[in-house]
Amino acid sequence: MPRKPHPRSAEAEAYRKLYRDPRWCGPHGIRRQTLRRDLWTCQRCGCLVIEGNRHHPQAAVVNHKLKHKGDEALFFDLANTETVCKTDHDTLIQREEARGYVIGADIDGRPVDPNHPWNAR
Ligand SMILES: [Zn+2]
Repeated sequence: MPRKPHPRSAEAEAYRKLYRDPRWCGPHGIRRQTLRRDLWTCQRCGCLVIEGNRHHPQAAVVNHKLKHKGDEALFFDLANTETVCKTDHDTLIQREEARGYVIGADIDGRPVDPNHPWNAR
């Protein structure tokens, strides 16, 4: 009997399927193609990335420049991928993505994003 999907994880489950797809993670998949094209070099800081330890600060992460949101055309597009290290993925990119959710200003015209430089004072 199929497991009843948790409503909040339905989207995450769909994404997980994409990441398990051989077109992504197979030996000739987009992920490997991206790492080879970028010469295993982080496109943000220039460090060499490694595989084998997901928790290493220089662990290889293949990032989607435009968020795919489950869109296969964007997901499997070599022009939309870049090699980054785990450190950059966890800081720069997640901050960029977080910013996407909180774009805008309050009624006083201040950016709502606490990370926005105007709110640094
Ligand atoms: Zn980096």
